Amino acid sequence: MDEPLHAMHAGVDKWHFNDCDFAGASTNLASVYDDTVKALESGNAEKAAKLFGRALHVAQDFYAHTNWIDLEPADTKGMPALIDSSAGNWPTIVPWQALANGIVPVSKTHPRPANLTFVKVEPPDRARLRVVIAGVEHPALISGEATGRMNCPQEATIGHWDDRPGQYGGLAKDYPCREPARSFHAACTLALRQTYQEWCRLRTLAAADPIATKTLNTMLIADDADAKICAEKAFLLPSFPGKCE
Ligand SMILES: [Zn+2]
Repeated sequence: MDEPLHAMHAGVDKWHFNDCDFAGASTNLASVYDDTVKALESGNAEKAAKLFGRALHVAQDFYAHTNWIDLEPADTKGMPALIDSSAGNWPTIVPWQALANGIVPVSKTHPRPANLTFVKVEPPDRARLRVVIAGVEHPALISGEATGRMNCPQEATIGHWDDRPGQYGGLAKDYPCREPARSFHAACTLALRQTYQEWCRLRTLAAADPIATKTLNTMLIADDADAKICAEKAFLLPSFPGKCE
């Protein structure tokens, strides 16, 4: 989740899903995938691997740095939902537009709807934030403030590292030693499932070009070693055994 990253990317929200920069991080992901596919099309497996690693960091940080798992998002199968499980490139996460499961990403940098109120939840559940828009209550998606950019609305701000008594921790779920430890395990398990999803996304995006597909196969221990995984998508099913302990 938060291993040292290239200095150019350190502390920049769009590389870490920090500071409620959901639109920035999701459009950044889409553009990194565009570059990764270009590298594959030019036969440059090494460059593609580096770019894909950057994309994985951002996608995994979504779970490590937001209140997603605190909101207990369920998918149609009753599993904790992934933020995106589509086959194509990353869609833009648009602030104030409800996601399919009703969760509303919030942001200070996008004009807020009229008739908006925040419903604060006191510690220890303060990450379970909600908003009421035009009389309808929604779970509200935020990420921890980490760099001082302050893209989160003032009423919905929780620090990434908050660790003073009474704060019950910030939103960071990067380490198992942070309380509550269940946050790390739940976030890590979703990040693991998202990682499979990201590989299969890259496989699908590369499928449009024979050279890209050939280059991708050089990155595997055997051609189509991932075929069963990406065809069955067991990582989206309740029976998926992958879990961070
Ligand atoms: Zn990060």
